[in-house]
Amino acid sequence: MSRIDTSSGQGIRNGKQYLEGLRDDREVWIHGEKVADVTSHPGLSRGAHTLASFMDKQFDAELQETITYEEDGKRYATSYMIPKSREDIEKRGAAFYEWATWSNGMFGRTPDYKNASMMSFAAAAAFLGEDKPEYADNMRNYYEYIRNNDKVLTHTLINPTYNFAMAKEGKSSEEVALRVVKETDAGIVVNGARLLATLGPHSDEIEVFPSTLLKASEENIPFAFAFAIPVATQGLRLLCRDSYDHEKSHFDAPLASRFEEMDAVVLFNNVLVPWERVFMYRDPLLCNRAFAETNAVIHMMHQVVCGKLAKAEFIVGLLCKMAQATGKDKDMTVRGQIAEAMWIAETVRAFRFSGESQAHEDKYGNFVPLRRPLDTSRNVFPKMYPKLIETIHLLGSSSLMATPTEADLSNDLADDVGKYFQTVNLDSKDRIALFRLAHDVAVSGFGNRQVLYERFFFGPQNIMASIYYDLYNRDDMMARVDELLNRT
Ligand SMILES: Cc1cc2nc3c(=O)[nH]c(=O)nc-3n(C[C@H](O)[C@H](O)[C@H](O)COP(=O)(O)OP(=O)(O)OC[C@H]3O[C@@H](n4cnc5c(N)ncnc54)[C@H](O)[C@@H]3O)c2cc1C
Repeated sequence: MSRIDTSSGQGIRNGKQYLEGLRDDREVWIHGEKVADVTSHPGLSRGAHTLASFMDKQFDAELQETITYEEDGKRYATSYMIPKSREDIEKRGAAFYEWATWSNGMFGRTPDYKNASMMSFAAAAAFLGEDKPEYADNMRNYYEYIRNNDKVLTHTLINPTYNFAMAKEGKSSEEVALRVVKETDAGIVVNGARLLATLGPHSDEIEVFPSTLLKASEENIPFAFAFAIPVATQGLRLLCRDSYDHEKSHFDAPLASRFEEMDAVVLFNNVLVPWERVFMYRDPLLCNRAFAETNAVIHMMHQVVCGKLAKAEFIVGLLCKMAQATGKDKDMTVRGQIAEAMWIAETVRAFRFSGESQAHEDKYGNFVPLRRPLDTSRNVFPKMYPKLIETIHLLGSSSLMATPTEADLSNDLADDVGKYFQTVNLDSKDRIALFRLAHDVAVSGFGNRQVLYERFFFGPQNIMASIYYDLYNRDDMMARVDELLNRT
């Protein structure tokens, strides 16, 4: 088996280097058109430039201690650091949180999410070697390659649902699901579709792994694999949804104009995956165990809880500003509504620090946060986030519609807009800016996609809950019930 070249790369990249890397022959389609350059195409360009500005922060002297680490004379993103102590887990958490504050959690799929997963697969590569030792080496080499080159990854873990009854039995559909159609000396050839690559058009590499949650049946062999390939691979096409960046100004669309991270369906047309990029193959049962047994799912949950904390805090701040605008913040009912949002933020904070402070060594000799608080967070946040959005609706009401555009501040209506949109505590311009932000969080296409994302990105809620139930230590609690019933 040939070996992926790990010799190139200098560790962290800046934004310019990242953008240059995206200008390759990737095949991305949006709004019926093939995209020539994702860094300049309307609807995709500004998301790419936002991520580039985040990459630049890796060279900021004040942030570098937190968001990067040094090894063998090179600096790498902290999310690549294999944690060997509780302090390392805390450093990883601080880096995740820092990255999330730059978008206040609205650009949820920053590269640290996938880095966390690849780091844990590499750190637990022995697991992949259960099948074939070469696969463990492939993963270690791949990790060195993406770490050295600071690659941005997306992932696609789900086959499209063609027949729900089959999906529930763990069987994939020949019609649509991604499957192996041929083996050659060079690698495997795959055909079919996968859902859903968030950040796909803005990524360098795509991780095509089994689901973190859905279990495959033993016979699902042609559909059982894990590999990673460049987005610019022959036969690979990304088909985007509508962009929510409608080229409006930052004033008019404060979030959509900056944080459009894009989701794409991934189509594979006889794509050759070189053997050195294959990590699992023809073993559905190994695939089923992969995310849990390598602890990748816990390290991903860690990135997620830190991001959700930044997001919940931001929404609390927004609600307070909205209430303050008209003096509603003096009203007890409104204060109570905002207090509920504050409880959500504090609950997420408690989950984060509970997971970090109870970090422990795993069977591979690495440290991992305690799963239960983070797993609780990933189960309850999809229910909490819509509640936060509802509170914005309830507090904002028609103010979310009384939102003229930036142009209305300087056209023939400007005097009227300047007069009639003021509130006791805000002049018209500031009030419009604030409520346009609230609109982008809670009403716009961008905002509604955020709600859908929070509900689903980690998987179907009922399956996550069922796994949580299975892992919960119920025995002691049930024994206490028995003890009481059996008291004489
Ligand atoms: C905005 C957004 C971004 C996303 N980004 C990514 C990404 O980057 N990478 C990625 O891989 N995926 C991504 N996803 C996909 C996500 O993992 C799925 O949406 C989720 O797992 C639900 O699967 P589905 O969409 O196929 O829905 P369906 O299969 O249609 O499921 C709908 C409902 O059916 C139930 N259900 C589904 N399967 C089963 C089962 N086997 N047993 C019992 N009940 C079941 C659940 O109640 C679920 O809520 C994203 C989704 C969204 C909305």
